[in-house]
Amino acid sequence: MAPTQAMRTIRQQITHRPVVSEWFTTTQHLYNAVVRHFFEVLQAHPGVLDLSEKDALKALERLTHQTKANPNPVMPLSEIAPQVPAMLRRAAIHAALGSARSFQSHLARWRVAKAKAAARGKPFHLRPPVPPRRWNRSVTLYQGMWKCKTKTSIVLKLYDGTSWRWVRFELSAQDIPEGWERGSPQIVRKGKRWWLHTPLTHAMERPKKVETQVRLNPEVRLCSVDLNITHALAVATILDANGTALATTFIHGGKVLHDRRRRQLGRIARNRRKTGIIEAGVQDNQARWEKIRHLDEDTAHRVSRRLVDFAVAHGASLLVFEQLGHFRPQQGSYSKRGNEKRAYWLRGKIFTDARYKAWNQGIVTCRVSPRDTSRRCAQCGALVARYDEAHPVAGYTPGAPLFLCTNPDCRKQGNADRNAAENIGKRLLSRYAT
Ligand SMILES: [Zn+2]
Repeated sequence: MAPTQAMRTIRQQITHRPVVSEWFTTTQHLYNAVVRHFFEVLQAHPGVLDLSEKDALKALERLTHQTKANPNPVMPLSEIAPQVPAMLRRAAIHAALGSARSFQSHLARWRVAKAKAAARGKPFHLRPPVPPRRWNRSVTLYQGMWKCKTKTSIVLKLYDGTSWRWVRFELSAQDIPEGWERGSPQIVRKGKRWWLHTPLTHAMERPKKVETQVRLNPEVRLCSVDLNITHALAVATILDANGTALATTFIHGGKVLHDRRRRQLGRIARNRRKTGIIEAGVQDNQARWEKIRHLDEDTAHRVSRRLVDFAVAHGASLLVFEQLGHFRPQQGSYSKRGNEKRAYWLRGKIFTDARYKAWNQGIVTCRVSPRDTSRRCAQCGALVARYDEAHPVAGYTPGAPLFLCTNPDCRKQGNADRNAAENIGKRLLSRYAT
């Protein structure tokens, strides 16, 4: 089986004197100026993108780096910054290559879509992708930019605005788990603090593709997830290859999260009314936004962890979600709309967090169409009535917690989110049913 890599990141807070914070900032500015320069070189010399990584590196150095053998480079880096350490230059080149490749493929896709529309005689309004306007990347430190790494300290090479200097830092302790290999760290700004993020990799067997698993493994188990966010944050059900539900878990806390967020958003709205028009570019209520963001990020982390743990505990090798449709804001107050938008964002974040955590456990994540997953009975496929407790068992109230199957021979009844989770898993099974 083809090997692949599990990936994770350890995050350590850097302890530093206030003045040093500026050196992190100047280093980041310089790095971004260099990345941007190489991106521009690539725009001017797109042929470089067709070369191998190694040849592209050589070509870019020839175009930008002045040496005795290469006295007049076409787009000298020295015009941007006088003294850039070789290893910072390398890291910037790789970042620029990545950005340029991604931009190029976006542009190619846009051209194909445009040509398709033209061939069909249909109007085409999508704007072409534009190159990044602002560069604000975290600095990647290749070996040579850091040294003397211990569990709780590291020495980093930083730019103070005029020269480069080595500075030793204390780090919050974090163990590297056994068998994991360390990659190049990044210095990442979070609010006013700076963190060292170190990517770790670990060789593992590549999990089998979804189709192979469903078609060829009669013992396959999948964990299907309904991300509701309103009542329960998530409901997960384990299904076997026949679509029989074996276990279900409810991850509660949706209501609490919603209320806490609404309180913060309400206060922000009140403050805005009080202070009147906001100055352009000034982030009002910064601390409150920070709180909301932190609340959501923390929720995504916790929920995704629990989903993956549940899948692992029941031997599931597939994790199934619904596709996330487009965000359609509803009418309502500022805090209501804001809350819906955050809930939408949170669903996406739980999905991406769960996907990488699952991959590290050899579990493949996939998505199915969300069509009617809440409207139909998972047992027989008939339409369901969806209702609130203490309300008549009839009609369809979106978001209500209970359901009853309208098929007189079935009459299945129970939790609506669990029914949706079962439908999501069954939809994946039916995709490959023969
Ligand atoms: Zn039914």
